[in-house]
Amino acid sequence: MPGSAPPETILILGGTREAAALARELVAAKPDARIITSLAGRTREPAPLAGEVRTGGFGGVEGLARYLRETGVTHLIDATHPFARQISANAVEAASIAGVPLEIRTRKPWSRQPGDTWIEVETLEQARDAIPPGARVLLALGSQHISLFASRDDVHFVVRMIDRPETPPALPDHALVLGRPGDTAAVETMLLVAHSITHIVCRNSGGTAAYAKIEAARDLGLPVIMVSQNG
Ligand code: NAP
Repeated sequence: MPGSAPPETILILGGTREAAALARELVAAKPDARIITSLAGRTREPAPLAGEVRTGGFGGVEGLARYLRETGVTHLIDATHPFARQISANAVEAASIAGVPLEIRTRKPWSRQPGDTWIEVETLEQARDAIPPGARVLLALGSQHISLFASRDDVHFVVRMIDRPETPPALPDHALVLGRPGDTAAVETMLLVAHSITHIVCRNSGGTAAYAKIEAARDLGLPVIMVSQNG
């Protein structure tokens, strides 16, 4: 209708479970609004999402600012993974250029609880170097980070992956466990005990989905080499 206010258009920068849940909530709560989730396009077959989906990079800050203007985005939400730092930085600048309000809903990092034994490091390289010789390590990292640990032929690694990789992990001494992370500390404890794990290496991703292994490590008194979000 001429003269009527433009429709509310919300762009969610996504790629996380939290972003998918948010899209579901917003689609249900705002039937008259356009709810668009943006994905980087890294996952071959992403799970279906509520609302509209756009895929691929925007072309830096300028590209995102242009997209915000051209699409008539009225509200931008950053719900990306806390280690996806570039897109979050771009969102701050692009929102300011385009004059669109930005809501930051990225996960807060986990904080150390009583009973936790954390060796906190800034980078994955520091995590690799912090592993003591002879350790048996649950390497709870994305597949793109595994090869960094290849030089540690004095360590036994347990690598968990959702899908069987096309080529086996490039680690001299490792076991591959296929499946998703366990939902409860009890399930994660079974894995840690079955593989006689002495250390966990992971990044401080925050959120609930990957937290069970941290609780299991606490219960077993195992050290966690934790890569912080600041590195
Ligand atoms: P990144 O380093 O922050 O971003 C690199 C570039 O990828 C960005 O400059 C942007 O390209 C594009 N991009 C990233 N997220 C995008 C999105 N949601 N929609 C459109 N373009 C996006 O990001 P990353 O660490 O590669 O992560 C990529 C995506 O995977 C993110 O959406 C994130 O939420 C998800 N994810 C990441 C991790 C992780 O550990 N990093 C874990 C789970 C999920 P242009 O500059 O061309 O716009």
